[in-house]
Amino acid sequence: MGLLTGKIAVVTGAASPRGLGKATAKLFAEHGATVVITDLDAAQAQAAADDLPGEGHMGMACNVTDKEACFATAAAVIEKLGAVDILVNNAGITQPLKIMEIAPENYDAVTDVNLRGTLYMTQALIPHWRERQTGSVVNMSSVSAQRGGGIFGGPHYSAAKAGVLGLTKAMARELAPDGVRVNAICPGFIATDITAGKLTDEMRAQVLAGIPMGRAGTADDVAGCALFLASDLSSYCTGTEVDVNGGSLIH
Ligand code: NAD
Repeated sequence: MGLLTGKIAVVTGAASPRGLGKATAKLFAEHGATVVITDLDAAQAQAAADDLPGEGHMGMACNVTDKEACFATAAAVIEKLGAVDILVNNAGITQPLKIMEIAPENYDAVTDVNLRGTLYMTQALIPHWRERQTGSVVNMSSVSAQRGGGIFGGPHYSAAKAGVLGLTKAMARELAPDGVRVNAICPGFIATDITAGKLTDEMRAQVLAGIPMGRAGTADDVAGCALFLASDLSSYCTGTEVDVNGGSLIH
């Protein structure tokens, strides 16, 4: 039996075909969930939803930096599907900048999507979950938050992802009495398209040298952890940060 039979999950930023969100959405669907894929482009989100196993999945446009769009998306999903049980705040962007290269627009872009977006999309579902006294949130942070970058993203990305960890823990504390669990995943170096062709062979070799398991992670490696945190398997876990990094940060 599937671990998410009858559950409804929203996964943000999940249209990217090789991304962590898409792999998570697919694994959730394989475990019986109805999945709503949101991303910037409606057609791409719909195409990703159509690609999932099973029936009834949805694709929707939602820019997570837009609070009204997040609330409208949550309302539309609840109206159409009746409820939301799980939210994966996966939408994120990164930029390989050094500290003095970070311009105001870089800071805004990276903190807005990763951190503000996580807050807004979760806020959009909290009233619904308070009514139902249940909910599970999985936030995508990063090993960059824990070790101060050193993989690909610059200091503004580390700061945004560290912000996601603080937000995760504070929301976990505040929402626990409402039966809502909030946890974070800290992926290490995972082969996806987030590096947008900017990862050089030299950078790649350097990162791989620091991974005890000797390989980059796969999107499926992260999806498995998301399934654990989203499902009742992790029913007594809240406010946790789970490392999925091949041992690249053993602490
Ligand atoms: P990806 O680039 O493949 O996918 C990210 C998705 O987010 C894209 O589909 C993009 O369109 C979407 N997105 C961007 N801005 C958005 C916005 N404002 N609103 C809604 N959607 C938006 O990246 P990925 O590697 O799959 O990363 C997924 C998450 O995991 C991100 O939060 C990322 O920071 C995090 N992460 C990735 C790695 C890695 O090595 N790949 C490591 C640690 C953390």
